[in-house]
Amino acid sequence: MRAPRRALTSAETTASETTSGGRPSRAEAEDAVRTLLRWAGDDPAREGLLDTPSRVVRSYEEFFSGYTEDPVEILKRTFKEVEGYDEMVVLKDIRFESHCEHHIAPIIGKAHVGYLPKCRVVGISKLARIVEIYARRLQIQEKLTAQIANTLQDVLDPKGVAVVVDAAHQCMTTRGVHKPGVTMVTSRMLGLFRTNPSTRREFLAMIATPSNHLHNV
Ligand SMILES: [Zn+2]
Repeated sequence: MRAPRRALTSAETTASETTSGGRPSRAEAEDAVRTLLRWAGDDPAREGLLDTPSRVVRSYEEFFSGYTEDPVEILKRTFKEVEGYDEMVVLKDIRFESHCEHHIAPIIGKAHVGYLPKCRVVGISKLARIVEIYARRLQIQEKLTAQIANTLQDVLDPKGVAVVVDAAHQCMTTRGVHKPGVTMVTSRMLGLFRTNPSTRREFLAMIATPSNHLHNV
């Protein structure tokens, strides 16, 4: 049975008045952390935990900064019209940190992104930014992979896009089935990467080639 709702205190009323667009205030978010600390069995009032709610909320701002950024705008701003360049562009080993939407546990891995330009290319740092923006949201790996590929396809309108994501899920390594060392691989192939086996093979060979020798250059 649910307990009857108590009346809001004046502090809570103020907090909810400053909330815009349904987003809780920082004070409400910190209170939620205190609730979870109590739920875990600890005392949020003990000295070691006093600053924890504000630290957790600041961490959330960083972990989930992707909600306030628009990948489409970033790509649109930077594309250049090119004539003649029609070879594959591949950025591989893009490290990312994300969080699974089921457990809010870290997903840490690498993304490999390739496309075949038709008339537009984008600065390669922007490919990494797109990965980062989608990673800094609550995710499942399949959705992350598809979002990166679909956004590149929609905005750059290339002949094809390939995205492979290889990541470890801490909800599998530190809880549940406890299987460390397991990574999940997902891919999304669009356009020529989907329809042309040799294009797909070329991309997969490029991302499989170790590039460690370059890191010390
Ligand atoms: Zn999970």
